[in-house]
Amino acid sequence: RQQLHPELPPRDALVSSDAGLIRIKLENELRAGLGAGEMQIYLQPIADIYTRKIAGFEALVRWQHPEKGLVRPDLFIQLAEDSGLMVPLGRWIVHEACRIAQLLEQQSNKAGVAHSGAFISINVSTMQFRDPEFFDHLSLALSETGINPQRVKLEITESALTDGEAAKRWIKQCKALGVRVALDDFGTGYSSLSYLHEFDIDTLKIDQSFIRKMMTDQRSRHIVEAIIALSKKLSLEIIAEGIETQEAIDVLQALECQYIQGYIIAKPAPLSAYL
Ligand code: C2E
Ligand code: CA
Ligand code: CA
Ligand code: CA
Repeated sequence: RQQLHPELPPRDALVSSDAGLIRIKLENELRAGLGAGEMQIYLQPIADIYTRKIAGFEALVRWQHPEKGLVRPDLFIQLAEDSGLMVPLGRWIVHEACRIAQLLEQQSNKAGVAHSGAFISINVSTMQFRDPEFFDHLSLALSETGINPQRVKLEITESALTDGEAAKRWIKQCKALGVRVALDDFGTGYSSLSYLHEFDIDTLKIDQSFIRKMMTDQRSRHIVEAIIALSKKLSLEIIAEGIETQEAIDVLQALECQYIQGYIIAKPAPLSAYL
């Protein structure tokens, strides 16, 4: 462990501190939980601001812990990244998200409801991004579930683009499989607008911190406006995240942002809520 992660304090230091003990305990529980089927995919809809229809869903992982209840990903994704569990967890997420999306599609076709054809957006962490077998597993998930690859979108963050050559190869593989790519949390990292035309990205997700600031700060609103205008020129789909109020919807509609995601539309919920 220490060799793999030199930035961590020595194991003894970890064990001797409460935080370290809790961490190791949690790591073991996460490993066991993954094996015991305690992970669950929640779905949050992404809506078209003009038609008000569901355009797609983001898959968000949850951990149904036997004692702690529902654990949010903020509390275990980083742990999974650090402990090497993210790759197996990520493989499960990709497969499960495709399976769920295909199920939802079959149901909505039968019922003739609005979200037929909706995309499924899957978060890809740094470790998954670096996993050389990522695309083998993705292909397998696509063929086993029978989902149309064009309905699958992968969400990466700007940090994945810092190694430009690797990122280009990765995105090329997505295109070869027919899946789409979204740039998540846009505006929080070292955002470079040059990324947008350098990489073959399909969708831009404006981070919720920007959306929040935009409501009170004129400068932030100008930035959001510029990002939306640029996306249009580059034919990028644009999604604003963290929409909690009608006022935010009104502003985004005025700025001609086509897609919105947030609590005002729906909180993430398990598949059963949509069936
Ligand atoms: P993210 O990818 O930026 O996901 C959006 C987060 O914002 C989700 O939190 C979602 O529940 C929350 N959210 C959506 N609308 C609103 C809103 O109107 N107001 C507020 N306050 N929050 C809103 P969640 O599900 O807790 O996930 C947190 C982060 O954990 C995600 O941020 C993502 O980075 C990571 N994560 C979640 N699921 C996965 C996964 O399956 N794989 C990976 N690699 N990371 C994941
Ligand atoms: Ca995301
Ligand atoms: Ca995000
Ligand atoms: Ca985030």
